[in-house]
Amino acid sequence: MVKQKKILLVNSPCLDARQGEDAGIVSLGLYYIGSLLIENGYNTKIVNLADNKEDHAALFQKILKDENPDVIGFSVTNPNRLNAMDCARAARKLLPDTTIVFGGPAPTFLFEYFLKACPDIDFIVIGEGEITFLELVTELENKQHKAFEQIKGLVFKKGDELFKTSPRPYVKNLDLLVHPSKYFVYQYLAMSRGCPGKCTFCGSPKFWGNSIVRFHSAQWFADEVQNLVKKGVTHFYISDDTFTMDKDRVIEFCEFLIKEKLDITWNAISRTDFIDEDILLAMRKAGCIQLSFGVESGSQKIRKLLGKPIKQEKIIKAFSLTASYGILPRAYFIYGSPGETEQTIQESIDLLKTIKPLSAIFYLLVIFPGTHLYQSAVNKGLLTEDLWHQRIEDLPFFEVDTTLDFTKVKAFGDRLRSEFYNNIDTFAQNINLVDIKELYPFHADFLSRLAMTFSHGEYAADTRVKHQEVTSKMLYERALSYAPDEKAFLGLAMVMQKKRRFDIAIAFLEKGLAHWPGNKNLNICMGVCLMNTGQFKTALQFFEKFKNFSETNQYINICHKNISGQRHE
Ligand code: SF4
Repeated sequence: MVKQKKILLVNSPCLDARQGEDAGIVSLGLYYIGSLLIENGYNTKIVNLADNKEDHAALFQKILKDENPDVIGFSVTNPNRLNAMDCARAARKLLPDTTIVFGGPAPTFLFEYFLKACPDIDFIVIGEGEITFLELVTELENKQHKAFEQIKGLVFKKGDELFKTSPRPYVKNLDLLVHPSKYFVYQYLAMSRGCPGKCTFCGSPKFWGNSIVRFHSAQWFADEVQNLVKKGVTHFYISDDTFTMDKDRVIEFCEFLIKEKLDITWNAISRTDFIDEDILLAMRKAGCIQLSFGVESGSQKIRKLLGKPIKQEKIIKAFSLTASYGILPRAYFIYGSPGETEQTIQESIDLLKTIKPLSAIFYLLVIFPGTHLYQSAVNKGLLTEDLWHQRIEDLPFFEVDTTLDFTKVKAFGDRLRSEFYNNIDTFAQNINLVDIKELYPFHADFLSRLAMTFSHGEYAADTRVKHQEVTSKMLYERALSYAPDEKAFLGLAMVMQKKRRFDIAIAFLEKGLAHWPGNKNLNICMGVCLMNTGQFKTALQFFEKFKNFSETNQYINICHKNISGQRHE
């Protein structure tokens, strides 16, 4: 039955502009809530104000006027809270009768602050939001407005007091939720909710509940991927906290992808103590190209203080195993932790050089509500909720630790980053791959992808990285020693093209085109090389195969001009 209430779900931008692969990403929770509402007959739209280059406030005003929603739900984190509250105020001014709901990790742990800072918020959904939001909207639809107290997982104002209803039980069987891919298209998805870990800097266990991790079945999750593939998605970011926690389930999921021959790639996140050869083999064959691990620190003492006391040997083994199966191992390091000194940073550098990650991210330790470190600072009287009235996204840990300060901590981060970038070439040159024949084409793909980062990707553009050309050439050649790979032929041709060795570049392209005659990049590169050697007529044949693409038009014009010039000579 079609319902009256019109619902807008909003992802607000963070205070600081974001860059990189996860900039402006809509929280997966909004897709789950949105699909459940649509399935229940509600006209629901998701608005992403975070990926818009325009003035988000002006855009939001326009959306409010166009959509005139009855209920607006905001997905709120600490970094986007101030913009979300500004949007809520704007919505209240323009649409006084609309119901404004906040949910997500920040309001879950700071509901008092939010209701005080922004009286325009009507309800806060605590924790997992699907069922609570649906029940709330149903109650609003029924216009009884009497039973909000009965809806579990809500906080709202009742007179001058805050009323918090009883906790919402977690959804035990995640497969009972509606497939978000039925109604939306996105790349970030998760098979599980929760993490068995107890990291003191992480809010996930408290938000999702870590007594029991909940999963989608492998089939449900594979269907989700397949639906999105049908809608044109070819690369996925699997955002489970610890994707490989349930080995059998992951292998079953991978086997489905392999059986369906889905031509996709994906990244995932895991822990170094949940990895082995079987799972890596299945994941690589199913399209996994990157696996991220939170190493956090090279100091066992700090890892323990951060709640992740994984033994060094396990970390080392996980990184070498992951790379050996042709999956790019990415390391997350944290600096500015409790007990951090020059010595512990040196231990992190030593571990970094031992595990040789092929990508690394170094985070300054920040604390936020819902984490043990934040709560401990509150308990010691070092901060209060008033902190969040300031225009800050989060709080660096060093601000509540007298042994640390900004200059010191910044220098720690600089040291770690420069050690990584100064050594990434040797890390890449020293990869040991497993000798499993069925993985040869995957090894070729892995080495070529990595080579691309050195020849024309992230590492090519970074002045701290040494020997880019030598490393990329070595990796491309190594890739071809495993199997023909279009990226490797193209990459080698481009390296030679840059050196103006068009004859060698053309030889690589010929080999590549023998395998992939219809490959656009190989054809265009061949055309460019031929133009550079004055063979415009032959070059034209390569460009004309792709004359419907705008980038080839300029080359076609140049060729025609030169051919007619040659005729008139
Ligand atoms: S940091 Fe990772 S492993 Fe630790 S609790 Fe959070 S999600 Fe779990």
